[in-house]
Amino acid sequence: ARSDGVGVRFYEPVLAERMEVRRRLELDLRRALALKQFELAYQPQIHLESGTIGGFEALLRWRQADGSFVSPADFIPIAEETGLILPIGEWVLRSACQAAAHWSHPAVVAVNLSPVQFRNRGLTQNVVAALAHAGLPPERLELEITEGALLEDTEAVIATLKSLRSLGVKVSMDDFGTGYSSLSYLRKFPFDKIKIDQSFVRELEHDAEARAIVRTIAALGSSLGIKITAEGVETQGQLEEVRSHGCDYVQGYLTGRPMDDAAARASLARIEDRVHGT
Ligand code: C2E
Ligand code: MG
Ligand code: MG
Ligand code: MG
Repeated sequence: ARSDGVGVRFYEPVLAERMEVRRRLELDLRRALALKQFELAYQPQIHLESGTIGGFEALLRWRQADGSFVSPADFIPIAEETGLILPIGEWVLRSACQAAAHWSHPAVVAVNLSPVQFRNRGLTQNVVAALAHAGLPPERLELEITEGALLEDTEAVIATLKSLRSLGVKVSMDDFGTGYSSLSYLRKFPFDKIKIDQSFVRELEHDAEARAIVRTIAALGSSLGIKITAEGVETQGQLEEVRSHGCDYVQGYLTGRPMDDAAARASLARIEDRVHGT
C-alpha cells in the first residue's frame, strides 16, 4: 500500500465495491434459473446464395427482477468460475432445441458452449437428451465452440468433438482468428463451419489487411470443405465485401438483430410465404 495514504483511500473502497458487486451477482445468478429469469434471443444467419435464413444463433439473456438485462459478457465469466454454467448451459441447450422443434421451417439452431461445458464428461449425453426431449433431428443443432475449449487435453477434446459429430450434430468454431493458433486447430479438429470474428468484419471497408485475412479464411474454408460465416455484419458495404470474398453465411445487425422466439418464427413464416408464393 502507498504510505501517503492517497492511493489507499482511493483504491481500497473501489476494490471492495467491485468485490461486493461480484458477490451479489453470483448470489443472484444462483437464483436466476429457479426464478426463470433466463431467456434466449435468436439472431438469423443468412445463407448468401439463397438469401434465406439458414439458422438462428441462440443468445442467452438474463432479465433481472427489476426488468433490467445483464449482458452475457458480464455474467458468463462468473457462471464459468462458479460452475453454474453447467446447469445454465443445459437449460440453454434444452430450450433452444425445444424452440427449434416448433419452427415451421427446418432452420438450424446454433448454441454456444462454454469451454467448461466442453470439458464436462456429461456433455454428449446432455446433447442426446436435449435432442430426444425436443424431438429435434441432430442435423438441426449446431454447437459453437471457441478456441478456449481446444487449448488443453487435445486427445479428450478430439474424442468429444468426434462423438458429437457422430450424433449428426454440426460443430462450428466461433470467433475465428482471435486466438493464438486458430490455424493449427483446423488441421487437428473436425469442424463443419468457421465463424470469422466480427473484429475483422468491422474493418473490412477501411483496412486492406482485414480484407486479405477475410479473403484468405474464406479460401481456406472452401478448400477444406468448411462453411464460412461472417459475424457482425452491420453495413451493406461489409455485406458486399464478405459476399465477394466467398463467405457462405452472414450474421449481423444488418440482416437481423437478436429477437425473441415469436419474432424468429414470424421471420421463418415470411420465408414460407415467399417459397409458396402466398
Ligand atoms: P458470440 O457467440 O460471438 O455471439 C455474437 C455476439 O455478437 C452476440 O452478443 C450478438 O448479439 C453480437 N452481435 C451480433 N451481430 C452484431 C453486429 O452486427 N454488431 C455488433 N456489434 N454485435 C453483434 P451477445 O448476445 O451479447 O453475446 C456475447 C457473447 O456471450 C457471445 O459471443 C458468446 O460468447 C456468449 N454467449 C451468449 N449466449 C451464450 C450461451 O448461451 N452460452 C455461452 N456459454 N455463451 C454465450
Ligand atoms: Mg457464438
Ligand atoms: Mg462469435
Ligand atoms: Mg464473441
